[in-house]
Amino acid sequence: MNILILGSGGREHALAWAIQQNPKCDRLIVAPGNAGIAQMCECAAIEIMDGDAVAGFAADHAVDFVIIGPEAPLAVGVADRLRDAGFLVFGPSQAAAKLEASKAFTKEICDAANAPTAGYAHFTDGDAALDYVREQGAPIVVKADGLAAGKGVTVAMTLPEAEAAILDMFDDNAGAEVVIEEFMDGEEASFFVLCDGTSILPVGTAQDHKRVGEGDTGPNTGGMGAYSPAPVMTDAVTQKALDEIIKPTMDEMAKRGTPFEGVLFVGLMIKDGQPRLVEYNVRFGDPECQCLMMRLGGQILDLLQACAEHRLADINAIWADDHALTVVMAANGYPGSYEKGSVISGLDGLTEDSQHMTFHAGTTEKDGKITATGGRVLAVTARADTLKEAHAKAYEMTKKIDWPGGFYRTDIGWRAL
Ligand code: ATP
Repeated sequence: MNILILGSGGREHALAWAIQQNPKCDRLIVAPGNAGIAQMCECAAIEIMDGDAVAGFAADHAVDFVIIGPEAPLAVGVADRLRDAGFLVFGPSQAAAKLEASKAFTKEICDAANAPTAGYAHFTDGDAALDYVREQGAPIVVKADGLAAGKGVTVAMTLPEAEAAILDMFDDNAGAEVVIEEFMDGEEASFFVLCDGTSILPVGTAQDHKRVGEGDTGPNTGGMGAYSPAPVMTDAVTQKALDEIIKPTMDEMAKRGTPFEGVLFVGLMIKDGQPRLVEYNVRFGDPECQCLMMRLGGQILDLLQACAEHRLADINAIWADDHALTVVMAANGYPGSYEKGSVISGLDGLTEDSQHMTFHAGTTEKDGKITATGGRVLAVTARADTLKEAHAKAYEMTKKIDWPGGFYRTDIGWRAL
């Protein structure tokens, strides 16, 4: 089978690494990929936001299966364009990708599906939004409606913070839309399920560390580390999330004629054994994907293919009783402004096998040297029988990487450990 993966992050590196282990994979191309992926398989410089360009490339290269990693191409309908052209595709339609692209849409679906989530109100007018938060008081959560790469949310612990966030969103932005939510207290976890429009197959749980600083302090980032499974996702919580949130949402999407087909990343807040929905994403999360792929290995290709072919009901996945932990390494200064171009050494000496991997996100190769090009640059992932062992293995790997231009958190997994 010839496979094309769209994307360039740690998520796509991890997907490519796992998929390549499956004997069904004859040829693997990642577009556009990154320096780490290029050491493993072919990379192609195509514009992944352009459905016609991707379809043309896939036809020219006899691609049998296209896997779409990031949300941006999904939100503009690249999956639809490829399906129309007759390709087998993993990734939701543009209509179903609204579950991530619009917070107001997700809230409306939750209402219709009676799924537990934070109470909310939706505003297109700044003054009305300000009146509302003054009436509700803090803590309260202010969210920009569209895709904002994790930067559109303010969890305001005080009223002035909430007011400032609203003023900022409506400042010079006539078309702004804001969702204001009740603050939910509890422990967060991510639950990943494959959906083929009818059937649902859980593929793992994880917890990530969004804040840049030790002890989960400081500004939010795209994720500084993760571990899987999430201890808070007990069998009872998992079943409740499936029965009360995910299944009703999938049924509602199908009822509207826009069934969801792909991976649903369910962000949950859990308190006293009751999960409530924080958000949906319509793709694997990064860094969580790195833990999941290390745990699932080559069978992920069979699962994604069965999902794309609407055969999830027939699948028997093998779940190992193991643990994985990912530590992200970021450029100094991230998530603020950071320098690009610093050299990373020591990567050649790292073990890479089914229990240790270094996945790249923002790297490039220049004159035989790997240099940093992004904020979150690479991550090490380790797998073991216990979380404690996975943690020790992962930090052993970080010590071998020599990168004065970067940093990492030393306490990934602290809550579970
Ligand atoms: P991401 O990049 O994680 O997808 P996003 O922009 O889609 O972010 P959300 O996931 O909705 O935004 O919110 C970001 C974070 O803010 C959540 O992971 C959670 O920690 C916090 N948060 C969001 N909504 C609430 C809420 N109602 N109560 C408490 N915390 C919340």
